Parts: sequence; C-alpha cells; structure tokens
Amino acid sequence: MLDVIAQPILTNNYVWILNPENSDRVIVIDPGDADPVVRCLQTLGKRPAAILVTHRHWDHTDGIAQIRAYAPCPVYGPAAVRQVTKPLAEADTLTLLGIEFNILEVPGHTAEHIAYLTHVNKVPALFCGDTLFSAGCGRLLGGTAEQLKQSLDRLKQLPDDTQVYCTHEYTAANLKFARQVMPENPKVKQYQAQLAQQTRSLPSTIALEKSINPFLRCDDAAVQHSVETHAGRQLQNELAVFKHLRAWKDHF
Ligand SMILES: [Zn+2]
Repeated sequence: MLDVIAQPILTNNYVWILNPENSDRVIVIDPGDADPVVRCLQTLGKRPAAILVTHRHWDHTDGIAQIRAYAPCPVYGPAAVRQVTKPLAEADTLTLLGIEFNILEVPGHTAEHIAYLTHVNKVPALFCGDTLFSAGCGRLLGGTAEQLKQSLDRLKQLPDDTQVYCTHEYTAANLKFARQVMPENPKVKQYQAQLAQQTRSLPSTIALEKSINPFLRCDDAAVQHSVETHAGRQLQNELAVFKHLRAWKDHF
C-alpha cells in the first residue's frame, strides 16, 4: 500500500508525502517549509528518498535546504529551479521506491513548470503544483495564457479517475468564483454545499474538475456567455475566453 500524506504548511499549502508501507523512505513533493516536514519524517521514522519540485516558487522550495541538511537526498524538478540536482523534462520517466513517474511539462503559471503523473494503489495520480487547482488554476506569474490554457487542456485529457493533488487549498474561494461564472451549474452548487462539511478538498479528480472548474470549461456556452457579459463584448475563441476569465478571477 502507498499512503499519500497531506502535510499542511504555511497558510494553505500542502506538501504531499508519498509513504510506501514497505519502505523506510518517503518521497516529498514541493516542500515550501521544512519544520512540519521534518516533524512528519521523525514521526514516521523515515528518511526522504528524494524531493520532487514542480516549479521555482519559494512556497514550494524554501524547505529543501533544511530537509537535505536533516537527511541528504536528490532533488528532482525543472532545470530552472536553483535547488534541483537532477533536472527533469517532458517525457522523462523516473522510478523511486518502486513508484514510476511520468513527467509532463505544463508551463503557464511559471515559464518552467512540470507535473508528475503516477499511480497511487493502481489509481492514476497527478501532482500538478500550481497549474491546476480544484475549481481554479494558477495565476500567470511568468508563463503566458496560451501556455497555461494548453497545459490545462492537456491535463483535461487524463483519465477521469485521475486523482489531482494540487498544492493549495483554494477550493472554497475558487468555488465562489465558479458560482459567479456558472450560476446555473448544479454540480458547482452541490459541491460547494458538500465542502462546507469538510476541511480538506484534495485530492480532486479530473472528472470533478471537468464539471466544476470554469478554466476547464472555456468550451461551455454558459461560461462563454458569462465571460462575454463581463467583458462587455464578444470573444473570438476559447483562448480569448480563457484570458478574460483569468483576468476576471485575478480581480475577483
Ligand atoms: Zn507557484
């Protein structure tokens, strides 16, 4: 069995820790802070086999040095990330503790951003950093809207049952925006009510995101209508809808 631990750090980040039952080591993803991760390792009595990083932002990388001082291990991630010791790029594969990862380049939030596709107990699992959030997506902080739209369209093609492990618990706030964009969407309303009963919304699934996430629904007439109403003009294509939607959310 492979356990995936959601270690909360900072105000709303999760460090995902992959903890195989039959190993004395774990895999740590996007450690933006060290102390809570080291405490978790101590509680488990395990060392990290590796740290995986999705992109360069401090809230995904600031814990790396201290964790490696506690227990040395390689750091995988995009070559542009200063702390990375083993760079990864599109179509690379990586096997750690018997777990195989496929690397997808998903730029847009930043110019260099990767996602890790694997299986957790035979179910597809995606560790996607700040590219896709539940009911939302990352801001444009270095990449372009074209890149982010293309990356999200790519993730949308993954199997419906793929578990989506995002880094931030932004779901409740994102759903408020989704309600504004898709007021008639019954699944958004229903999911918002369901989440009011729980503290953690992640992992999500690709199937759920395709139904509630406006950024994956730029082909939906209802989303297009809302965005065009907000823009006060007709928009030429899905990319124009996506760009306006992203800008609308930035100021929501
Ligand atoms: Zn980020």
